[in-house]
This record gives sequence, C-alpha cells and structure tokens, in this order.
Amino acid sequence: MKYYAKPLTRLIAELSKLPGIGYKSAQRLAFYILSLSETEATALADAVIQAKANMKYCSVCGNLTDVDPCSVCSDQSRDPGVICVVESPRDVSAMERIKEFRGFYHVLNGAISPMDGIGPEEINLKSLILRLQQSDVKEVILATNPNIEGEATAMYIARLIKPSGIKVTRIAHGIPVGGDLEYTDEVTLSMAMEGRREL
Ligand SMILES: [Zn+2]
Repeated sequence: MKYYAKPLTRLIAELSKLPGIGYKSAQRLAFYILSLSETEATALADAVIQAKANMKYCSVCGNLTDVDPCSVCSDQSRDPGVICVVESPRDVSAMERIKEFRGFYHVLNGAISPMDGIGPEEINLKSLILRLQQSDVKEVILATNPNIEGEATAMYIARLIKPSGIKVTRIAHGIPVGGDLEYTDEVTLSMAMEGRREL
C-alpha cells in the first residue's frame, strides 16, 4: 500500500468499504474526488448525508422512502386486492418501470438464506402477514429472485399464506426474450417447461 497523507488515506479507506470497490478503484475514485471543484465535492458529500438522513423504510410495505407511508402505499388509484412481494426496493423500481402492475408491494429487504443465518424472522415478513389479515387482499404475487434463496423464500411464504385462502402466484421464469434454447442452461430450461402456458 502506497503512502498518502492522512485525509487522502481516510478517503480511500472509506471508499474501499463500498461493495465491488477494491483498493485500486477506491484510489482512482479518491483522486477523482480530489480533482472536483469545491462545489462539486460538497454536493457529493451532501447527497450522502441527505440520503442517509431522509430515507427510511415505509412502515406499510418496507420500501425505501422519504415520506411514510411511501408514494406507492398512499396511491389511491392502485388495486388494493393485489400485493406483489419482492426482495428489495430496487425490484419495486424495476417493476414500476414496466408500468403494468397497478397493485401494491411488500418489500422483504432480504431473502431467507439458512447458509447466511437469515431466517424468516430476519426479513420483513411478519408485517406482510399482518397486512393480509387486516386487508382485503385477493392475490399475493411472489416476485422474489429465481435463485436458491428467492425460491426458498417464495415456497416459505406460499406455505404460510395458503391456509388463508388468498390466491398465491409466482412470477414465471424461463428463457429470456431474445434468448436461444440452444444456449439456455438446464435449470432455466426445465423451469420454462414447467411454467408453460396454453396458447
Ligand atoms: Zn409503502
């Protein structure tokens, strides 16, 4: 590790704590930040402070928001009969981009992963069950990721909700649009077969 004066060493150390940023990238970013004008650098630092101070989890759905309840939960034009369960606020933003879903969300802020010591208690699940008990939800769409943790989480939630009589659905997964059968892995292909529908 090269020697730098204390303030620069500190900046590099903080940046290298970010996900996907190793020492070299942190060093590059730090030098870039130092090359910024006073105004630009302050705007960056201020954005970090403001985001941290003003963003919180929605008390209804668990999404990240600056107002509570979040803008989705307080949107009266949405269909109160459907809740789409996702793992992270980024998934809400992805779903909102397609503009097709007009129900509400529930953000788990994680997925069940026994290997990492994350059980049902560690994710935002209890509040979903409470929500279902207190509202007139007809369908719960499980849109957790199609990986081991996401599947395990979906199965767990489905088992939990089923006895209530609420319809539980899982998003389809299979061959990506523009993909090729020939190059599709076996798991994806078998899931695509499983999720086939009548035309
Ligand atoms: Zn919300």
